[in-house]
Parts: sequence; structure tokens; C-alpha cells
Amino acid sequence: MRESTQVLVIGGGPAGATAAGLLAKQGFQVTLLERDRFPRYHIGESILPSCRPIFELLGVWDKIEAHGFQPKGGAFFHWGPEKWEVAFRDQGDDNTNAWQVVRSEFDQILLDHARELGVDVHEGVSVREIEFDGDRAVAARWFETKNTGAGGRIEFGHVIDASGRAGVLATRHLQSRRFHQVFRNVAAWSYWRGATPLAEGPEGAIAVCSLPQGWFWAIPLHDGTLSVGLVTSRDLFNDNRQRLGDIQAVYDEALQQCPTVLGMLENAEQVSGMKVEQDYSYVSESFAGPGYLLSGDAACFLDPLLSTGVHLATYSGMLAAASLSSVLRGEVEEKEANTFYETVYRHSYERLLVLVSVFYDSYRGKDYHFYNAQRLSQDERDQLDVQAAFDRIITGIADLNDAENAYGVVQQHLRGATSGDPNPLNNLNRVHEMKKSPMDPANAVNGLYLTMRPQLGLAVRPTE
Ligand SMILES: Cc1cc2nc3c(=O)[nH]c(=O)nc-3n(C[C@H](O)[C@H](O)[C@H](O)COP(=O)(O)OP(=O)(O)OC[C@H]3O[C@@H](n4cnc5c(N)ncnc54)[C@H](O)[C@@H]3O)c2cc1C
Repeated sequence: MRESTQVLVIGGGPAGATAAGLLAKQGFQVTLLERDRFPRYHIGESILPSCRPIFELLGVWDKIEAHGFQPKGGAFFHWGPEKWEVAFRDQGDDNTNAWQVVRSEFDQILLDHARELGVDVHEGVSVREIEFDGDRAVAARWFETKNTGAGGRIEFGHVIDASGRAGVLATRHLQSRRFHQVFRNVAAWSYWRGATPLAEGPEGAIAVCSLPQGWFWAIPLHDGTLSVGLVTSRDLFNDNRQRLGDIQAVYDEALQQCPTVLGMLENAEQVSGMKVEQDYSYVSESFAGPGYLLSGDAACFLDPLLSTGVHLATYSGMLAAASLSSVLRGEVEEKEANTFYETVYRHSYERLLVLVSVFYDSYRGKDYHFYNAQRLSQDERDQLDVQAAFDRIITGIADLNDAENAYGVVQQHLRGATSGDPNPLNNLNRVHEMKKSPMDPANAVNGLYLTMRPQLGLAVRPTE
């Protein structure tokens, strides 16, 4: 491995591969260190249509389309007493825009593509620590994970931490990760073969079905398995585990309360053991500093209810590449680019955070502990400034006009008002789309806006 690089990217998941690939595409020297050897297992299988523009920008869309993943026609919700579907075709585009993916294969395509674009990728190499000169990140210490004992040091001009939930910078150096008081949930999932396809909803849809103690996802994959996961609160999970003896028993008991998913599994065989993750939601106090940017799950993580993780990872990877490109070309000061990155990414995260909370809040069985636990307290609102986030949404700053719409329809529909629209939650899908507005000079952050032409970067809004 070389001893210095212009840009170091930590982690080869969707955030890291996107950021690294887009930077290399513009001719910058990029080294990426990935702890595991790909293909490696990962959860997060339901992909939103909003990822498509970013994959097109990377030039990887055709490869994803050709791979044979399960096309995802939309989502089907069985939420409390209500059933409805979100069909992507109703968004006015007949093309397949989204997929249910086996993440080991999907992430491999993205990382291989980054390599083809010129990124110097090293797998099986873990970053142990970052060195600072004052408050500026300047170098990384790494070691080979296969017990060879080999290790070394690499200097960089800039580092993008895309190490996912491990969060090298936020957890080991900055101590900046803050867990939300709500969404302290646990996910337990497994894979099934021979499942019956969902009888309702668009083809290949993710099914999201509530039960008193949480909710299930059911995601059909192109390898013939169905991914079926339970999300429940940490307290309920621990109590039930103690009462029933093991995780499998907790999962089995919850399935009995979820007729939609149970029906799909009637003739199916469970073909994997249980996997568990504490999917607590968190956010870092800051996403950027001298010499560094935090991208994807390394910066923030949101409850998987609306399948937003890969969207946020690729979106932030693209924003990081745009911001850094302009800094490296000498067009924008690093401090200004960091402010742009932080502001735009945080807005995207916050609007989805608010939507997830509205969604949970809309559940009608409020006497159930799980749904009470998902409600934002006043403290939580103050601490996380969610009220400010919501205010930003409804005042339409940045790319958030559509979220106001979605918030309205979610509340209207799920609280039982007559909306007149047979599929009012179709609008929900739109909040995930990559809006053009960070590219609109009218929404500039400190005079800067995102541009793709003549190259990816930040542009200065012309003064009148
Ligand atoms: C239960 C659950 C269900 C989910 N369902 C969905 C879903 O349906 N749809 C969706 O879009 N999202 C979903 N997500 C979220 C999704 O998994 C993540 O948001 C997404 O993978 C984030 O991508 P990333 O690139 O930021 O991180 P990751 O994909 O985690 O990649 C980070 C990479 O960094 C590497 N790494 C870590 N530490 C180091 C180190 N020290 N040095 C070098 N490399 C390192 C890791 O090996 C890893 O490959 C779900 C999450 C959970 C927990």
C-alpha cells in the first residue's frame, strides 16, 4: 500500500464505494480500506428508487440492472387495521427503479465498480485509528485483519469515514455519536425458502406489517429466499427472551400475531439461523471537520421502517464527493464545503427521522408499549432539535417541500380523515427521491449549491 494518498475512504459499503468512485471518476487519487473481504454478508436489502440517479452518475446502474436482482414494484403496508400499497409505477415511470438485493452481491458490484473507476481498494484491512495534527485529521493506522500481523500508516489530505455502524471517527476519536431516546429497537431476522408470494401489493414489494409489539418486514430476494425480520423494542425483546428462552421462540411467537407474513410462510422452510442487531437510531453531533467527512451510517442511522439506509448512504457519499471535489480543485474553502455537506445531509436525515416518527405515531393501537416507546418526547425534540427539523420541513427550506406533503397525507390518511386519494401514501415514496433542490441556486447554503456540470462539485450562487 502507498504511504500517502490524496483521499482516504474508510469502508467499502454503499457510502464508501459511492464517494470513492465519484472522486476517482474526476481524476482524484483515492485509496479505500475495507475491513472485510467481499463478498460479505450485510442486512439492508430493500432499495429505494431514489438511489437510481446516483448510480447513473457513477455509471453503475446498467450493471445493477443486469445482475438479476428481484425488481421491487413498491411497498405493501398492513399497518394496524389498514392495508395500502405504494406502487412505484404510479409515480409515472414504467421502468424498474428499485430492487430487493442480496447485499453481499450488491455491495460487491459497487466496490468492484469503484475499483474500475480507479480507486485503490484494499480488502481485509482495518483502520485502527486516525492521527490528528491539532484538530486536523492527517493519517490513519491500519492492520490486516487476517492475523498476519501486518500493519502500517497512510497519510492523507482528506479522509471520508464510511465505516458504517462501527463509526471509527465518531466512536473512537470524536465521541460525537448520540443515540435517540426513541427507536431503541432490536431487529431479529431469518431467511425462508418456498414462501408464497405476497397476495396483495405490487410485484416484488416489501411487506411491512405491524403487530402490537412491533412490526415485520418480508422481502423477496432473487436467490429464492424471503428475508423476514421482526423489529421490536429493546425492553420487549429482553422480556420476551427471558420468558420464552431464546430468540427463535420470540420470533416464532411474534409471527403468530402477524397473519400477512404467516400466510406467506405456510409452506416455507426456515433456512438460516436467527440474526440479531440492535438497530438503535443515532446521529453524530457533527458530520465534518478539518480534513474529514462522515458518510452513511458512520454519521447517522435511522430505524429501518422506511428502508432509507442505502438511500442516505449513497446520497451522502455523493454529497461528500461533490464537496471534496470542489475543495481539491481549489474552488471552495474546506470550511464552507463542510458546512454545505453537513447542512444538506442533516436536512435529509432529519426529514426522514420526522417521517418515521409520524409513521409510528399514526399507529392506532396506542395503548401498546411498543408504539408508545416510539413517540418523541419533548426532551427528545429539544435535544435533537426535531422541532426545528420539522419547522425547516414545513417552511420548505432546501429539498424538503415534498416532505410537508407526505407528512400531511400520512397524518390525514392514518388518522382516518377522508383524503379523496385512493392511494394517498403514494406521496410517501416521493420523499425519498433525490430532489434537485440542493442543485437549485435558490436553496444555496451560504451561497453554495450542488452542481453536476461541467463536473460534480459545488458552485457559487451568482450575486445579483
Ligand atoms: C435490521 C436492519 C434492517 C435494514 N434494512 C434496510 C433496508 O431494507 N433498506 C435500506 O436501504 N437500508 C436498510 N438498513 C440500513 C442499511 O443496512 C445501512 O444504512 C447501509 O448499509 C449503510 O451503508 P454504509 O456504506 O454507510 O455502511 P455499511 O454498509 O455498513 O458499510 C461499512 C463498511 O465499513 C467497513 N468497516 C467498518 N469498520 C472498518 C474499519 N475500521 N476499517 C475499514 N473498514 C471498516 C465494514 O466492513 C463495512 O463493509 C437496515 C439496517 C438494519 C440494522
